[in-house]
Amino acid sequence: MEYDVIVVGGGHAGIEASLVAARMGKKTLLITMLVEQIGAASCNPAIGGLAKGHLVRELDAIGGEMGLCTDNAGIQFRILNASKGAAVQGSRAQIDMDKYRTYMRKVCHNTPNLEVYQDEVTQLLVKDNNVYGVKTKLTEEFKAKKVILTTGTFMRGLIHIGENKYEAGRAWELPSSTLSIQLKELGLKVGRLKTGTPSRVDANSINFDEMQKHGGDEKPTPFSFRTDKKSFNPTQLPCYITYTNLSTHDTITSNFHRAPLFTGQIEGLGPRYCPSIEDKVNRFSERERHQLFLEPQTEMRTEYYINGLSSSLPIDVQKEMIHSIKGLENARIIRYGYAIEYDYVDPTELKHTLETKKINNLYHAGQINATTGYEEAASQGLMAGINAALAIDNKEPFILRRDEAYIGVLIDDLVTKGTNEPYRMFTSRAEYRLLLREESADLRLSQYGYNFGLISDEQMEKVEHKRKTINDAVEFMSNEWFTSKKENLELLESLGEERIKDRALLIDIVGRNTIDSAKFDKLVRSLADVEDYLKEQIIIEAKYYRYVAKQKKQIEKMKKMLQMTIPEEFDYKTIPGLSNEVVEKLIKFNPPTLFNASNISGVTPAAIDILHMYINVRC
Ligand code: FAD
Repeated sequence: MEYDVIVVGGGHAGIEASLVAARMGKKTLLITMLVEQIGAASCNPAIGGLAKGHLVRELDAIGGEMGLCTDNAGIQFRILNASKGAAVQGSRAQIDMDKYRTYMRKVCHNTPNLEVYQDEVTQLLVKDNNVYGVKTKLTEEFKAKKVILTTGTFMRGLIHIGENKYEAGRAWELPSSTLSIQLKELGLKVGRLKTGTPSRVDANSINFDEMQKHGGDEKPTPFSFRTDKKSFNPTQLPCYITYTNLSTHDTITSNFHRAPLFTGQIEGLGPRYCPSIEDKVNRFSERERHQLFLEPQTEMRTEYYINGLSSSLPIDVQKEMIHSIKGLENARIIRYGYAIEYDYVDPTELKHTLETKKINNLYHAGQINATTGYEEAASQGLMAGINAALAIDNKEPFILRRDEAYIGVLIDDLVTKGTNEPYRMFTSRAEYRLLLREESADLRLSQYGYNFGLISDEQMEKVEHKRKTINDAVEFMSNEWFTSKKENLELLESLGEERIKDRALLIDIVGRNTIDSAKFDKLVRSLADVEDYLKEQIIIEAKYYRYVAKQKKQIEKMKKMLQMTIPEEFDYKTIPGLSNEVVEKLIKFNPPTLFNASNISGVTPAAIDILHMYINVRC
């Protein structure tokens, strides 16, 4: 059987990859091990968070499914960092994991051009460094123009709970045992990483009265730009907060000698920013407690996930430590926490399109690229799927720049710098984060989705209306002087706002941190009738107006800088500040311009800055 695109794995990356490929008209086959597990949340029952929320909104703006699914399956919506600036806020939702899977499975089954098949892909069909299909455990062969691997934690997955180990892709699911061996034989750099998950406890055995309630936002915000904000009224279930204590820490420290993380049993490096409880107690021994969130796994509220208590300690130790925690004294454990080691492929093996450099037509997306997180995986899946579809039609690749999207930052970081630990997204990784706000993702990216046929006419009209309303408002406010005439001063006083001396541009008054919609209506009467959600956007634009202008200038400067030619036989070795690795690569590839240099894997933006300075001085 012949397909345009075969996607291996129905996790968060695989779903997005197969959906976009199919929606772009490509005959697509999604092969995954258990169809019931399409869209399974291997770890926490939540989507989004700081920077991760940005990724979901961006992929939604381009036409991905994760945002819509989250709005459908969400059971608590919150904006994190709500008191801080819009650029560092992050949307987060608790999800009903079962509903999430059901929704995704249904969408995959009902998308034209997409077929779903349950089996394990055991081998890639490769000839002369071109992949042309896959072979499965049931010895079926499927041919395809493009193959996208999204195998998550399944390649040679090995689960650890205390001294016990067993091979699995996720708890009680079979691993993928042969693929990574073949990838290594094909010359790709394969490494080993680790991640972990906490225990889940029976809701009936938890004493919630001993814990703090942690609810969702009063006015929940949907993830998807395509969900109607006005009618959005999801269930808002609470989470609960409790803490570890010195007794919990004693139990853990006195069992360090049985912790696979410390005994050498686990070799792969784990996620630095999502450490296990044994790692936290070891590294921060001065801390008397660690915060834990009890999160419902589903709307049924039968099981709670103990966020913050990821562990691979033996089960008797896990039980003792859980019972030492306030509110969990009598907790019945339904599933124990564990760690999993798995094979990944060094992401510097990839081009920006996520196609491997060594094997043509083979793309990698998700945890296979050393990332961690559903959102990171889904974003890569979307990009791999789009690029595979574009390549079939001999069209220009779709590469997002660092100043355009967090997705651009994610992929650029992975393919140019690589990583030796699970990579997760942070707002601090984006140098142009003021431009990359969550709420502007549709303005930045929906046109691309529209061009690829992933965004409807109706949605695009909504985006254009938003763009025009905001642009017109900014244009008006940035040309309108607010003078110190008597009625203006009285207005400021009545709003509790600081006076102005002589005059100020209206945009600078609206851009004050203290301005909300009610004050806006009085300050800018001509725009009082604008829809509420757009008014909020206009206020945010005003707040960032000056900074954004500065950042745009920097980007222009950077673009100009990258055009600079590098003189032939430039002596990189004499430049202080460049690492040996960078010097070796520059000598090897001899790039003609700074732009070409910046595209070499491992040549960082800091190295480009240094090069620019020295070329300027010397030439
Ligand atoms: P997955 O969601 O893992 O999906 C992979 C899919 O590929 C599965 O459906 C599988 O059946 C299929 N598959 C694999 N190999 C084959 C094959 N050969 N043939 C056919 N199908 C195949 N992320 C965080 O952000 N924070 C955490 O704390 C965290 N903890 C985690 C703890 C555990 C124990 C696990 C397992 C994961 C954890 N994650 C965590 C990671 C998160 O689950 C992943 O980052 C995310 O699910 C990756 O998405 P993916 O699509 O790449 O892979």
